[in-house]
Amino acid sequence: MYSTFELKKPRNMVSTNTGIEWTDKTWNPTTGCTKVSPGCTHCYAEAITKRFTQNFPQGFALQLHPERLEMPIHWRKPSRIFVNSMSDLFHEDIPFSFLEEVFEVIGKTPWHVYQILTKRHERLERLAEKLNWHENIWLGVSVENQQYLKRIDYLRKVPAKVRFLSCEPLLGDLQLDLTDIHWVIVGGESGHKHRPLQKNWVENIRQQCQDSNTPFFFKQWGGRTPKAGGRLLDGEIWDEMPKAWEQHLQQSLKYSRTQRKRNISKMPA
Ligand code: SF4
Repeated sequence: MYSTFELKKPRNMVSTNTGIEWTDKTWNPTTGCTKVSPGCTHCYAEAITKRFTQNFPQGFALQLHPERLEMPIHWRKPSRIFVNSMSDLFHEDIPFSFLEEVFEVIGKTPWHVYQILTKRHERLERLAEKLNWHENIWLGVSVENQQYLKRIDYLRKVPAKVRFLSCEPLLGDLQLDLTDIHWVIVGGESGHKHRPLQKNWVENIRQQCQDSNTPFFFKQWGGRTPKAGGRLLDGEIWDEMPKAWEQHLQQSLKYSRTQRKRNISKMPA
């Protein structure tokens, strides 16, 4: 679900810490996907599966990994967890019952925040009212160009605690309606075929965020490698996060080690 190249971080593909600046860990209860829009053209997840074939014998075909469902309950430190960096949780081939299981784990691990990012706004809309939107879910949609602004309208209808936009890889100038949107991430594309990011597109989004009091996170300029262009915008790093993250950290202190153990023991075998 993350469409820029980060190939310098191969590691174990099951789940791990990550180099993605706006999250702490990735959790991939499914892997594989199919392309739906221009932001997918140089999909990072697909590139990983091609490069590390021993870890992905099925290539980029969609696969469920039920054996990974309980992984977050063993991560004791409160973390921001990016769900499905190697897939799209609302992919049409993921059964609803499996989605429910993912959401059940999220509900039972309230010390974490789960960042779900999708390009499947239509399936999201169809399923949203049947899912339990726990307080620790942050839901985002990708918006790479003006044609996909419509995803924001779908996002707005979902009662997630935090609703965010990932404008990465940003492919054009955007005029955003940020009503009820709590966070915006912007980034350029990486890889040898990267499409260039224009500074005025980034500045324009930053201005819209400032005008609407929406936290703005600038991830990278992109280039041949993810770090090639750096992260500075007008000499500064823009790492703003939703207030909900600080609030969550304070609240998560109440989940003592004992309480977490209790939740773990309640998990189905
Ligand atoms: S939706 Fe995300 S994971 Fe799927 S092909 Fe597009 S960029 Fe890749």
